[in-house]
Amino acid sequence: MNPSAPLHDVIIVGAGAAGIATAASLLKRAPNLDVLLIDPATEHFYQPGWTLVGAGVFSQASTRRETAALVPAGATLLRGTVTGFDPEHNRILLAEQAPRGYRQLVVCPGLKLDWAAIDGLEATLGRHGVTSNYRYDLAPYTWELTRALQHGRALFTQPGMPIKCAGAPQKALYLACDHWRRHDRLGAVQAEFLNANPSLFGVAAYVPALQRYIERYQVDLRLRHRLVAVDGPAQEATFEVSDAQGNVRHEARPFDMLHVVPPQCAPDALRGSALADAAGWLDVDPHSLRHRRFANIHGLGDAINAGNAKTVAAARKQAPVVAHNVAVALGRAQGQARYDGYGACPLTVERGRIVLAEFAYGGQLAPSFPQWLLKGTEPTRLAWWLKAHGLPWLYWNGMLRGHEWLARPVLADSP
Ligand SMILES: Cc1cc2nc3c(=O)[nH]c(=O)nc-3n(C[C@H](O)[C@H](O)[C@H](O)COP(=O)(O)OP(=O)(O)OC[C@H]3O[C@@H](n4cnc5c(N)ncnc54)[C@H](O)[C@@H]3O)c2cc1C
Repeated sequence: MNPSAPLHDVIIVGAGAAGIATAASLLKRAPNLDVLLIDPATEHFYQPGWTLVGAGVFSQASTRRETAALVPAGATLLRGTVTGFDPEHNRILLAEQAPRGYRQLVVCPGLKLDWAAIDGLEATLGRHGVTSNYRYDLAPYTWELTRALQHGRALFTQPGMPIKCAGAPQKALYLACDHWRRHDRLGAVQAEFLNANPSLFGVAAYVPALQRYIERYQVDLRLRHRLVAVDGPAQEATFEVSDAQGNVRHEARPFDMLHVVPPQCAPDALRGSALADAAGWLDVDPHSLRHRRFANIHGLGDAINAGNAKTVAAARKQAPVVAHNVAVALGRAQGQARYDGYGACPLTVERGRIVLAEFAYGGQLAPSFPQWLLKGTEPTRLAWWLKAHGLPWLYWNGMLRGHEWLARPVLADSP
């Protein structure tokens, strides 16, 4: 290692959901470690709340906190942007700051929302009826448009996979439709769901319940439709439409409201680095979450290539696994912890009811509650209560503080 780079026991890249949770879990296991969290952002967001901001249920401010206030005691927060990785010398590179050295590295910078990949989109976001729940500042505009629209066409788009919270594009659709249904505007308002993928949802067990809501709201569902351009002033969106044989054509559709979910990719600093796979994501073993080539590097959250659903729910289960395995590598714990691919997606099919999709690797259903209490493949009021009250509380007071409720890691050598 470069002797001039300060050396830390553990560096964590990114102080989002995954980074703060990992720091907290790690310091619960080994309180005197030197843990450095690095993030350029001064604010931290509970992104799952943005769906409910877009539906007028949550206030925008309730989803935001100061990052510094969330850093667990014993960890240090460095405001900075990681620009590159030097795994051969156990250092990370920073913009306008000296490199930093580590004994163990945890990489969790989330993913990049690629707004620029859609021609004309950035120029019109927040105007001309174009919105997205994927941005803190725009989610209130979704609610404003939903309330204002009396008649016309409302388009909701979904890009190709992978994206974070694959259910969020249709959550926005259902909650807006439910509002129009309650105000007798369905019919006058015609909703279309234009999804780049070949099916409504990736895990087949949840599709029948979702399909019923598509019919109930008279949604015009169009699969294999990928948004490629937006003309805001003309209120026209262009889609690349492909068929099962691979034929492609372009189609322009007028709109009065357009809810866009942008294509998503690995962050710039990761893509093309020595740590990335061919697609740019952090290349980890899907169970140990350890890097496939560099044994003292670990990863979690949206940035990894493990194939789980990119969700806070996944990060909540991954953080204790990574914390445990880092503690083992530093001689502070024993046995290897193992992640099973758990992820969850509370599908807000109407105001007051949710289909709580919970699944592990391979789309295997992984319910947290017994069926008599919560039938995961059908909408329930209890799941809505969890989304609106239980899960935000669990996030701020449990996950980010190192309490591993419903997330204790399983050790690979336990029976
Ligand atoms: C609209 C919406 C709805 C969602 N709904 C749900 C839901 O219902 N349930 C659910 O479980 N999940 C949901 N999610 C997904 C969830 O929010 C993400 O999966 C989760 O936040 C991922 O955590 P993360 O720590 O990997 O990334 P993030 O929380 O995004 O944090 C990444 C951090 O890394 C920092 N960073 C980036 N680049 C660098 C760099 N170069 N150097 C240093 N730091 C860097 C960023 O500033 C950020 O603070 C939703 C997301 C959205 C947008």
